[in-house]
Amino acid sequence: MKSLAMTAISLSMAASAFAQSDKSLQISRNGSQASAKGPVEYFTGTVRVDPLFPRPNGTTHATGSYVTFEPGARTAWHTHPVGQTLVVTAGVGRVQRWGDPVQEIRPGDVVWIPAGQKHWHGAAPTTAMTHMAITELLDGKAVDWLEKVSDAQYLPEPVRP
Ligand code: MN
Repeated sequence: MKSLAMTAISLSMAASAFAQSDKSLQISRNGSQASAKGPVEYFTGTVRVDPLFPRPNGTTHATGSYVTFEPGARTAWHTHPVGQTLVVTAGVGRVQRWGDPVQEIRPGDVVWIPAGQKHWHGAAPTTAMTHMAITELLDGKAVDWLEKVSDAQYLPEPVRP
């Protein structure tokens, strides 16, 4: 039968192995990651990005954030090297693939944007929109930015579901 001391040492070693393992869980506490403003080079209007993942030194192959667009705000045209999923969480928004009509999107809608597909996303002209954006990475790259979305491209009445 193991002595109490030996048991204590075994437990201590097990705990230490857990702490050093890259399989340990990480909880990013609410408020631990600063909000950022969407850069004016890549966005029209007021956009806030709240980063979710990955954490520093992470090994994930995707990046996730909440993006909040004030009324009229939108991304520039862009593509993603692997693809992107948008989950609308609040408000009313718009998304458009190059060559297609603008489409309205609402909370609960999930948009998949295939690799290399030119598109934009943003708020409605008079209503803000928040989506979670999950963007897969290729060699650490998530996006290739193109020209801004003009008012003539943004303002036409969207297709509604
Ligand atoms: Mn996108």
